[in-house]
Amino acid sequence: MKFNELGIGDQVLEAISYMGFEKATPIQEQAIPKILAGKDLLACAQTGTGKTAAFILPIIHKLSDKGQTDTTSTLVIVPTRELAIQIDQQIQGFSYFVPVSSMAVYGGGDGDDWELQKNALSSGTNIIVATPGKLLSHLQMGYVDFKSIEFLILDEADRMLDMGFIDDIDKIISHLPKKRQNLLFSATMAQRIKGFAHDILQNPDEISISISKPAEGVLQAAYLTFNEQKIPLLRSLIDKNEEYKSILIFSSTKKKVFEIVRAMGGDRNNVKGISSDLEQKEREEVLRNYKSKRTRVLVATDVLSRGIDIKDINLVINFDVPKQAEDYVHRVGRTARADTTGVALSLINPDDMQKFHHIEKLIEREVPKIALPKELGEGPEWKVHSTNRNKRKNFSRKGPHHNKHRKK
Ligand code: AMP
Repeated sequence: MKFNELGIGDQVLEAISYMGFEKATPIQEQAIPKILAGKDLLACAQTGTGKTAAFILPIIHKLSDKGQTDTTSTLVIVPTRELAIQIDQQIQGFSYFVPVSSMAVYGGGDGDDWELQKNALSSGTNIIVATPGKLLSHLQMGYVDFKSIEFLILDEADRMLDMGFIDDIDKIISHLPKKRQNLLFSATMAQRIKGFAHDILQNPDEISISISKPAEGVLQAAYLTFNEQKIPLLRSLIDKNEEYKSILIFSSTKKKVFEIVRAMGGDRNNVKGISSDLEQKEREEVLRNYKSKRTRVLVATDVLSRGIDIKDINLVINFDVPKQAEDYVHRVGRTARADTTGVALSLINPDDMQKFHHIEKLIEREVPKIALPKELGEGPEWKVHSTNRNKRKNFSRKGPHHNKHRKK
């Protein structure tokens, strides 16, 4: 469906066309008319589906209809600073031709950032995109005026609950007018999200877009490896596939991130690491260089797997299997964003096989196990037990059955 069939005004349509979007994604098709109609919304959608535009376009349309105002009418609450910055950037793009202002409010900056955020919060910036902790610190200072909030959006609600933000969010909501439109987005719809949503949303419409499955365009495959084979395998994947211009490697721990960077030759080989241990400014610089393709290989923890939108990542490598099966979907979702294709490879050691098997159940597909390059020797065998009691059996299969991973 085209955006002009969804009820969005000409100036916003013009910005959409400048962004290069031709037709609406399924979540946009379903969510935009409901939001324009003023309904509360509970949406289950993973990143990569176009959910940011799904909630921000109708809001910008509504705000632009009012003309220039200096009241804060929209609050978007998100789990991480990177996501806050990214959503703020999208808002700036979509509101290029209309008088709508926005500001990202997040922690980790210096005194100048605090002043800038304070000014934005006290001078009636139309849309505030904030992480809960930092917003609460500002709210407690007494200069924030949220009397005119009409729209509350909670993005990545499941991650916010995981990160323990529930009390902060409750406190923030106590500062908002009771009458408002609420939109809640979550990648998963576990019972606790439903309970949380029930407390906040009023008679919401519900939308669910392909839960817990990586986008269609991702080619997924896995290597069965012993730990000592992982770094040589990474080197081989990165060196032999020059056509992959943008590679993202995930590791479950911060410590491992920098071990991998060192083992891969760091700056010498255009490999950088990012984790919450870096200063905010450094994190931004690393991300900027990666987004602009100056850095070819980025090694990251799961903080980056949620929500962060980097275009044209060709290859995602899971150096280890994520602790939570849902994180696999998020990691893999970093490639093949909205209609493109990409490759996602996972390195599985014997300890992680059972965990990976759970992931395969979650995504309802078996991920092909492919052969290690000959020079690395034999990998371990695939060994898992079925957790389904009726079918309890051990099966062991010689892992490798192809000899080269599939390309784009
Ligand atoms: P999101 O799920 O909001 O993180 O969006 C994922 C990516 O898809 C972002 O790079 C968006 O800019 C892009 N995107 C969103 N909507 C569309 C669309 N209708 N057509 C093409 N790309 C889109």
